[in-house]
Amino acid sequence: MNTTNPTRWEQAPIVEISRPRCPACGTAEPPEYVRSEGNGDGSTTRKAICRSCQLRFKVVVE
Ligand SMILES: [Zn+2]
Repeated sequence: MNTTNPTRWEQAPIVEISRPRCPACGTAEPPEYVRSEGNGDGSTTRKAICRSCQLRFKVVVE
């Protein structure tokens, strides 16, 4: 039993990150992530490849 944790998971708020979509074909299928780099300002750039059309694109997560 953990009495020091102020938040129960049942009461924790939910933060949703919308799924990135391929800018070319817009498939709902999640892309393949090949690399993730921090930008130094708290955001992260993830390099992704579309599984449907193989387009390479970058996803910035703030
Ligand atoms: Zn695509």
